Amino acid sequence: MRLRRIAAADEAVAHSQLVVHEPEKQKGHWQELFERGQAIELEIGMGKGRFIIDMARLHPEINYVGIERYPSVLYRALQKMEALEREGQMPLNLRFLCIDARELPDIFAPGEVECIYLNFSDPWPKARHANRRLTSEGFLVRYDQILAEEGRIEFKTDNRELFDYSLETAAVSPAFQIEEKTYDLHRDEKMSAGNVMTEYEEKFSSKGNPICKMLLHRRR
Ligand code: SAM
Repeated sequence: MRLRRIAAADEAVAHSQLVVHEPEKQKGHWQELFERGQAIELEIGMGKGRFIIDMARLHPEINYVGIERYPSVLYRALQKMEALEREGQMPLNLRFLCIDARELPDIFAPGEVECIYLNFSDPWPKARHANRRLTSEGFLVRYDQILAEEGRIEFKTDNRELFDYSLETAAVSPAFQIEEKTYDLHRDEKMSAGNVMTEYEEKFSSKGNPICKMLLHRRR
């Protein structure tokens, strides 16, 4: 997703107090950014932010960081937060990063993150772009570098090719193992309990596309 360049977006992102600037300086000290010291969870490729904002509102006992590489897209999440602030409903346990997720190990210390959400990640269908997929081997290595001992990864998509590729990648990962999976989340009573919809999930499930989900844990 790359929205038409919004003139105000770069400036809004650069000056927002909700966006963590120079995030490498925060490595190992992320808890200090939040009101309360509690588990940190990330969404990588959050798009316009519906999922991570709803999660932050539902779970004040968790600190969230939403990651999106394009300022024009992140700007939409900042606008949602402004609207919530006007209503006195803005969650205080949410910050944003405008970075490429490749930089994660420079930004979070080993064990600093409890959970990584990957929702409707870009499929990069050409084989020569496979290493850009957020579930590729290279990204799993990065997640291994920042996740806690009991850390987990939750991945949702309606793209069956990307899902199958991700299952194969996870199956041979030395760090992670597949704990649970479903090819039709919204009809899976157990795995859909507490499901929070993303923008893309709403759009594709309303067209009748089944949503796939997998849950990865560290190998034991
Ligand atoms: N997660 C949202 C949802 O489910 O509605 C948005 C899905 S959208 C298809 C994927 C988003 O991931 C895009 O906004 C894209 O810019 C972002 N993205 C893709 N690769 C990324 C990366 N390496 N680092 C940060 N963001 C990335």
